[in-house]
Amino acid sequence: MPFSKLVKGFHLFQHKYFRESGVYQELTTKGQQPEALVIACCDSRNDPALLLQSKPGEIFVVRNVAAIVPPYQPDDHYHGTSAAIEFAVKGLKVKDIIVLGHAMCGGVQALAEKDKTAAARFEFLTQWISIGEKACEKVDLAQPGLPPEQRQCALEKEVIVTSLNNLMTFPWIREGVEQGAITLHGWYFDMVNGKLLDYNFAGGTFEAFKSPSAEEVITRRRRRYDDPK
Ligand SMILES: [Zn+2]
Repeated sequence: MPFSKLVKGFHLFQHKYFRESGVYQELTTKGQQPEALVIACCDSRNDPALLLQSKPGEIFVVRNVAAIVPPYQPDDHYHGTSAAIEFAVKGLKVKDIIVLGHAMCGGVQALAEKDKTAAARFEFLTQWISIGEKACEKVDLAQPGLPPEQRQCALEKEVIVTSLNNLMTFPWIREGVEQGAITLHGWYFDMVNGKLLDYNFAGGTFEAFKSPSAEEVITRRRRRYDDPK
């Protein structure tokens, strides 16, 4: 992509959001109040704002390789993802946390293949994706001998579950979930078929995403109204 295309893109954005609408005027005056945190992969085909057609200010996004949430580990290391999650929960008081994994994930592929070449080439990547090793063990134990393509797909989904479990190791997230102030979601973007799958916590499966019923939406809004945070 020529660099000039990116600059042209900004000018189009500028026209739409600064000249045609007052979105940024409002966002800069009132500040941001996103209600959802989306944890997504860095993959260039997996842009949450584009996938979810959200407007500026609507979702708070943290992206990293393979959309991984590390376990809660307060120490003197640099925890970029945990810092973003902390700000979203404690600072912005988001109501929903979405882990958005995707098909054909290169990060998960490196994890699946335990890529020795990658381990030699990259200084940080291999250590980062090793957070998903539990997912590997789980898939290989439950479904041994899967063909590589199916194993990759199963791993991509299981890494989302690992991240959801790791979110619950953060005490202030666990507390929010138990009190009903925070809802966790595991979503899988099937970019081959253009579908979004939702993790069913009760069944442990990923299912075609269903829109919430009107009743569910109203109940949820009422809950937020009764318990403003
Ligand atoms: Zn990815």
